[in-house]
Amino acid sequence: MAGRFFALALASVALASSSPSNASNSLWQGGFHLTSEVACACQQLSKIHSAEVLSPSSANYSEERIRFWDIRSDLHPACIFQPSNADEVAEGVKILSECNAPFAIRGGGHMNFPGSNNIDGGVLVTLNKLRDYKVHKDTIEVGPGMKWIDVIRALEPHHRAAIGGRLKTIGVPGLTLIGGVHYFINKYGFAMDNVERYDVVLGNGTQVIADSSTNCDLFWALKGGANNFGLVTKFTLKTHHMPKVSTTIQTFNESGVYDFIDAAVAMSRLDEPHTIAAGGILTLQYNATTKVVSASIMGVQEGVSKPPSQFANFTAIDGPIKMHNVTTMRQWTEDKETPNQMFRIAFAKHSIIPDTDRLYEIYQAWKKGIDTLSDVQGIHPTFVINLCPIGAVRAGRNTSVGNTWDLPLEPTVWWQFSTGWDLAQDDIRVTTWSRQLSESLHEENRQLSLAREHVYMGDAGEWQDAFATFPKKNIQRLKEIRAAVDPKGVFSRLNYGGFKLAP
Ligand SMILES: Cc1cc2nc3c(=O)[nH]c(=O)nc-3n(C[C@H](O)[C@H](O)[C@H](O)COP(=O)(O)OP(=O)(O)OC[C@H]3O[C@@H](n4cnc5c(N)ncnc54)[C@H](O)[C@@H]3O)c2cc1C
Repeated sequence: MAGRFFALALASVALASSSPSNASNSLWQGGFHLTSEVACACQQLSKIHSAEVLSPSSANYSEERIRFWDIRSDLHPACIFQPSNADEVAEGVKILSECNAPFAIRGGGHMNFPGSNNIDGGVLVTLNKLRDYKVHKDTIEVGPGMKWIDVIRALEPHHRAAIGGRLKTIGVPGLTLIGGVHYFINKYGFAMDNVERYDVVLGNGTQVIADSSTNCDLFWALKGGANNFGLVTKFTLKTHHMPKVSTTIQTFNESGVYDFIDAAVAMSRLDEPHTIAAGGILTLQYNATTKVVSASIMGVQEGVSKPPSQFANFTAIDGPIKMHNVTTMRQWTEDKETPNQMFRIAFAKHSIIPDTDRLYEIYQAWKKGIDTLSDVQGIHPTFVINLCPIGAVRAGRNTSVGNTWDLPLEPTVWWQFSTGWDLAQDDIRVTTWSRQLSESLHEENRQLSLAREHVYMGDAGEWQDAFATFPKKNIQRLKEIRAAVDPKGVFSRLNYGGFKLAP
């Protein structure tokens, strides 16, 4: 049925696309040329058993086309392929490869730049329907259509938690493949360090598993190597006993900002013999119109100490809101929404060794910089501080294969500009500002011997080459693994978007 429907939808372009020269003359919705490769793929995909293929005239196309967090990601795929299971994914990837058709993959749709998870004029593969999960004693098998709240809900009855996203609707696959920062990295490492097995569809459509005893090289490569090797159809994640967590929400006025940064730096340096899992989302907001600054922490700690002990340095700072609670991970996460189509938004991210005075200077430079954007409609600037304590690095090293980052054994702070705005006319202005200011501050950090080069893909700008910051020997190994598992380059040549390993 789906096949017939799609064949009709394509009828108007099928003749034109029967030869490459004609193909480039046929315009698709959104003003893009429908190539013969893409026409081939869309037609073939629509024949797969229970998968749905949406064309621009399908009822759900418009809704699916914009299921992204960043409005800039709203593009016009020629068709949208919605497989229901791993076999259909495998058939689909084989077709895309054989037709030589460019495609993008969408998991939770939160990577925030145009083309990272959507495509103009190509095929968008969505994973919404792969939502099966299975809870075991100390692992959970998770389909790539799941959001982190789904995993948290599945584990709550078992008093367990996985190491994944901190906010409700972030997707499992994108976050896990790029590393994954959870509250508890200081004890359990990153999300990637907690993956026990990946089920993967390779570029030729074969299905393989990768774990510590089978396809070990691929297993390692997927721990931070992003979408360069295949499409992951199932993640098997380690889980941890976590019946209750202790939480804190605190806000601070401008007068508390230096102490806030100092408390963050102290927390990043914590390295206790019996690590207590704890971490938070630390942000500074500046309203360029009202000139009001506020800082906040949303912190979570394992156990039931109230207020949570690891946040004592924050609790000691005066501030309007101090809310402590003992709850479950599910209750804590249920209201941490990050809805789709929130705004146009750009990230910029750099690493530094923990240094309060320098981070305060960076914050001041950021605030001054925002003043130059005060006339941008809907400007929504946030300065984010992510902590990478030494325990997070150590936990990764202690797994069977380690991870692709191979960070030095030291704490770092990852500082980030997250800048939202309303109108497309301001895209270049805001992204250029974000890039130039963050790069110049990072260069100053280099001169001061405070900079570290690692860039986390989850919060990087589209202009940042995160892979270039990995150790050289790891890049070489990743390229060799890619050549072995995907010799035709389906995931480097045809799969658009995200962070790609250089040729
Ligand atoms: C509001 C917000 C909060 C965030 N919070 C956190 C946080 O707490 N911790 C953290 O570490 N990061 C966080 N991030 C960053 C987040 O990890 C990345 O945006 C991540 O890519 C989101 O995963 P996704 O599945 O939603 O992304 P998508 O945009 O769907 O995918 C990201 C990339 O992965 C590829 N991909 C998706 N699924 C697969 C698959 N199955 N196989 C192969 N490739 C695939 C896509 O093609 C795309 O290139 C946050 C981002 C936002 C916007």
